[in-house]
Amino acid sequence: MKVGDPAKVLQDVFGYGAFRGPQAEIVAHVVSGGSALVLMPTGGGKSLCYQIPALCRPGVGVVVSPLIALMQDQVEGLRQAGVRAAALNSSLEAGEAAAIWRTLERGELDLLYVSPERLMSPGFLDRLEQLPLALFAIDEAHCVSQWGHDFRPEYLQLAVLAERFSAIPRLALTATADPRTREEIRERLQLQQGRVFLASFDRPNIRYLLRDKDEARSQLLAFLAERRGEAGIVYARSRARVDRFAADLRAAGFDAVAYHAGLSAEARSTALNRFRREAGVVVVATIAFGMGIDKPDVRFVAHVDLPKSLEAYYQETGRAGRDGLPAVAWMVHGAGDVPQLRRFIEDSDAAPAQKQIEHGKLNALIGFSEASACRRQVLLKHFGEILAEPCGNCDLCLEPDTGTDVTVAARKALSAVFRTGQRFGGAHLVDVLLGGDTARIRELGHGELSVYGIGRELERGQWRSLIRQLVAKSYLLSDAESRGGLRFGPDSLVKPLLKGEVSLALRLPPPAKERRQATGGDRGAAATATLELAEEGRERFEVLRSWRLEQARSQGVPPYVVFHDRTLMEIASRQPTSLAELGTVTGVGQAKLDRYGESVLQLLARPEPQPLRPSLGLCSPEP
Ligand code: ADP
Ligand code: ZN
Repeated sequence: MKVGDPAKVLQDVFGYGAFRGPQAEIVAHVVSGGSALVLMPTGGGKSLCYQIPALCRPGVGVVVSPLIALMQDQVEGLRQAGVRAAALNSSLEAGEAAAIWRTLERGELDLLYVSPERLMSPGFLDRLEQLPLALFAIDEAHCVSQWGHDFRPEYLQLAVLAERFSAIPRLALTATADPRTREEIRERLQLQQGRVFLASFDRPNIRYLLRDKDEARSQLLAFLAERRGEAGIVYARSRARVDRFAADLRAAGFDAVAYHAGLSAEARSTALNRFRREAGVVVVATIAFGMGIDKPDVRFVAHVDLPKSLEAYYQETGRAGRDGLPAVAWMVHGAGDVPQLRRFIEDSDAAPAQKQIEHGKLNALIGFSEASACRRQVLLKHFGEILAEPCGNCDLCLEPDTGTDVTVAARKALSAVFRTGQRFGGAHLVDVLLGGDTARIRELGHGELSVYGIGRELERGQWRSLIRQLVAKSYLLSDAESRGGLRFGPDSLVKPLLKGEVSLALRLPPPAKERRQATGGDRGAAATATLELAEEGRERFEVLRSWRLEQARSQGVPPYVVFHDRTLMEIASRQPTSLAELGTVTGVGQAKLDRYGESVLQLLARPEPQPLRPSLGLCSPEP
């Protein structure tokens, strides 16, 4: 199948009516033989940027992809859409690989996925040189960068493609948002001559919700209580914490699996497969989990510990909501996280200059977590993008609070730091301010100090938040060497505040009592995508979903390669009655229409299932 018109391929093969963002321009550029670096956020639609040109140009499109596990799903998704695709990697038997080569040599493949090792193996490029090639696509191109977070040495060798295949368009694609990594990709893959396409990195469907860390476990359970049955990822810092949180979630009745580098390869691949192929699985993971996860319907990403940089936070949260439907990035952050992360940096083997960079990256993250206005504006600004208006879809936009005057409290906190000798961390300082009776206070005689017990007007959580914000604003400095001890920041900041020459307004968490009443925040954000459907539509959607699960099981593929949720939702709400009408639904291309059209129409024509329980509105007691 070689057809010339990209817009027609988009509709006929993929069932989409229009290109998104810069896709049209990129596709046109590559179809006419140009090379490029494509920077697009996760879920932005990078795949079509090379898949469509591969279908429009003569020859096969070669896609370099770092993760074998995911190639198969990509290939499967393409085959479902009627595209002739295959993957060559180390998981194949020799006979299977030989069969793929024969298909290639007969000119019967549109897209070939290969691992970088395979591509660079002896003789491989020689064989490719004998074939007509449509293009090279280098997916997850940031793997070539040592500065980035997923460095893969074998990616460095991909530079030879520029020399050996100078007439073939090369497309490097990544969701990396860091300008320095981008430069490195261009250099290392010799794309200096190619164009750079930069899409907005905003992910408007992701709601950012940050909470003061109080008791991460119960906060997480409360957040998840509204999300039973949804697929999601929970990130924790260490293997031990991953195991613990996974066990807690299972005990609370969630279908949770752990994933970290300490588990066997088999356990990891089972976890990954369950997550991809079953509904409503929650993966609790360290950062070892994630690259290339292309599951479109991840509804939430939760962080119970701070990630190590704002880039990492963006990448990790970006795995939510690839399908464009509402999703939530939720994080609890607390005073204890920062000194610990600083210590990790200090204790690492990195050179001093590198440590400096890591501290800087962490500072950017602290700036984000202690932001006082729209989170999305802060996040995008870090990546060089200006969002003109507050987003309306983050905790600070949704729960506006200009802050209260905390000048007096801040002065008390600073005094406590000073009187205790500028060497204690937040926890002890709060004990002193609240007039606590701890062993440490007795031992050090801190009960005798003038600051002892002068802060009873605020609760512990409020003091901790206040101190953390004083650190974020540099009134206080936290030393990695002194294990999180706090000392004064620059005189120019601290003195005017102590002398009462300036005032300070900050947002503090409400007292615990009020907090329990105002649970609206996270629930209001309930991202259950099906909320967009009316009641009967939702039942139809469920019927379609179980039909899809059957289809996927019988073919041994993930459900979303059959149809995305978004497509099923549109079918459920529009209820098409003919094949022609069904063909106009987003995500229904010709091949899927031929394959599934009749059975979907039959499903819709069946009489409405009778609800098993009486409608809630009639008999549920008033709360
Ligand atoms: P990325 O690789 O950039 O993370 P994908 O290529 O996987 O993103 O695309 C994300 C989702 O958006 C996929 O489900 C894809 O089918 C869908 N998509 C991409 N382009 C379009 C488009 N023009 N119209 C509708 N849906 C699209
Ligand atoms: Zn906002």
